[in-house]
Amino acid sequence: NGFVELGLAPELVQAVADLGYTQPTTVQLKTIPLALPNDNADAKAGFIDLMVSSQTGSGKTAAFLLPVLHTLIQQQAQAEAADKAAWDKLVADAAANGEEPPKRAKRKDPTNTRNFKAPTPGALIVCPTRELAQQVAHDAIDLVKHCRGLRVANVVGGMPYQLQIAKLQNADLVVATPGRLLDLQRSMQIKLDKVQFLVVDEADRMLDLGFSDDLAEINQLTIDRKQTMMFSATFAPRIQQLATRVMRQPQRVQI
Ligand code: AMP
Repeated sequence: NGFVELGLAPELVQAVADLGYTQPTTVQLKTIPLALPNDNADAKAGFIDLMVSSQTGSGKTAAFLLPVLHTLIQQQAQAEAADKAAWDKLVADAAANGEEPPKRAKRKDPTNTRNFKAPTPGALIVCPTRELAQQVAHDAIDLVKHCRGLRVANVVGGMPYQLQIAKLQNADLVVATPGRLLDLQRSMQIKLDKVQFLVVDEADRMLDLGFSDDLAEINQLTIDRKQTMMFSATFAPRIQQLATRVMRQPQRVQI
């Protein structure tokens, strides 16, 4: 399977195999190695911003989902290992001091509204239309099926607010249209200050639909040290302008 050579996590290689993908498409081959963390000196915290020309049907969705999910999987494994090490140390220290072993903290009752904390996803994919956002979320759910504990949520207009808010709890990756996302952010149902990966899908259609200012606002709400990827059918001057608004010296991938 040609996805193994790309260095992707085994959970993801298994998921693409389940989908029947045997070889990465051109946009996947060109984008995934650049999007994964690398030692390039220009990289921000090991990541570079990318501007990718791509048509629908080229496999562009997996080209951005796979590297983002790969890094989320690695971060989750690191966090779990750190938690375990900290816990093991507590247990060992207690034993060394002849104390009672520590007790696990009780889990907060999630149905108690006083325990509500706005979700803080690590990855955000912004799409111009509800249909596209639903398709991308669907693809993401297919790709995380072997990942324990990675959650995908979809934020689009037209879905009842309460259902959407419930689905957002503990989401790691959010696929959204700009308007509804900003609504939820303003009503403090989501916080974007932990977003380390921002993908703008079909940037040309985003501009056609008048989302330029919304995108700039979303960009400002996320952290500075993040990776941004923009996918667009063309690199027309207005797309370049948007790119300079939301990215720093992006590397171009032309298919
Ligand atoms: P997209 O350009 O993301 O809309 O993808 C177009 C279609 O190609 C989707 O139905 C994907 O499931 C499929 N696809 C994506 N990557 C591959 C691959 N490496 N091999 C075969 N099919 C793929």
